[in-house]
Amino acid sequence: MKKVNPDIDFIRKVKKESGSDLKNCMQCGNCTVVCSLAGENHVFPRKQMIMAGWGMKNELISDPYIWQCHQCGDCSKYCPRDVKPLDVMSSLRSQCIEYFAVPGILVKWMKKPSLTFLTLIIPALIILVVLWANKSFDKMQLPVNYSAFLPHILLNSIFTGFTLISFFLLFLSVKNYTKHFKKEFRVQKNEISSYKLFIETLIDFLKHKNFSNCTTNQYRKTAHLMIFYGFTTLILLTIYAIYAVKIGDYPLNYYHPIKIIGNLGGLSILCGIVILLVKRLNKKDINSSFFDYSFLVSVFLLVITGYVTEILRFSNHISGYHWYFIHLVLMWYVVIFLPYTKFAHFIYRLNAIFLIRKYKIND
Ligand code: SF4
Ligand code: SF4
Repeated sequence: MKKVNPDIDFIRKVKKESGSDLKNCMQCGNCTVVCSLAGENHVFPRKQMIMAGWGMKNELISDPYIWQCHQCGDCSKYCPRDVKPLDVMSSLRSQCIEYFAVPGILVKWMKKPSLTFLTLIIPALIILVVLWANKSFDKMQLPVNYSAFLPHILLNSIFTGFTLISFFLLFLSVKNYTKHFKKEFRVQKNEISSYKLFIETLIDFLKHKNFSNCTTNQYRKTAHLMIFYGFTTLILLTIYAIYAVKIGDYPLNYYHPIKIIGNLGGLSILCGIVILLVKRLNKKDINSSFFDYSFLVSVFLLVITGYVTEILRFSNHISGYHWYFIHLVLMWYVVIFLPYTKFAHFIYRLNAIFLIRKYKIND
């Protein structure tokens, strides 16, 4: 039998982040009865609620099942003691990201309103230094020309370079998570080929199939799909823009088909974000944290500043340069700091679903 080593700080943190009084859980199992993810031998989320109350940090932060939760809220609704399993699962996921992130301090900054400004000041300073070295402030002239202000070669090298470093650090974080998971759960490999399982997982992930199980909050699937495919469109557009620069076909006109597709991608993200924000603000029974809101708001502002920058270029207004700078800082925050915000959920969820399929887990 496994020895329990209660981590008191962990219990306090879960309580603080979730607003849940864990010791009120009387282990009735109502949450498991209503949760569509629970199985005959899989008492989710009741088991996790008991473990959270016991402070079993190591087991919980590497538990892949917490990533399957699609936040329908039924468990919290039917909990007779108002222990809020949904918010506890949410806190466990954010603690998982904080624990495995490299470096974890960035997640701590992202979670605290008083420290988040540091995650904006760092990119702002780096971009300002580049602009100063390029004598860009002398080039803030009409007609508006962002490529003269910040040449593509500089823009692409900086953002591509830092994004590659950041994604490598994300890879290390997920690798640490997987190692921790294997150690904690003493798993056995399935017979089925990993390649086949990965492709299946990827297809389900692209369809956001785990959200389909949720009959209560179908809007979440729609909103997530809109954000995911909106971003995918913008990534493809960025790749095309790099190519267009090479062939001298940049900047694109507002009626260029690629530009129109990019703008529709941005619109899709905006709609998804607005749906999630409005639903969150209206759901008084869900404990939304600064970590939740800061991600949604930053993506919202990223898209809005993108549109404003574009409009000011076409209308040839000098303030376009200032908005462009703000847009770049937000781009850094959302894309390069992806491993440290709620954006990382996409990757952890994909990995967790794959691990559940690949290994026989002793529940
Ligand atoms: S429904 Fe509430 S009280 Fe019952 S086991 Fe779940 S969390 Fe505990
Ligand atoms: S929020 Fe829904 S999916 Fe998540 S644990 Fe509760 S009942 Fe299950």
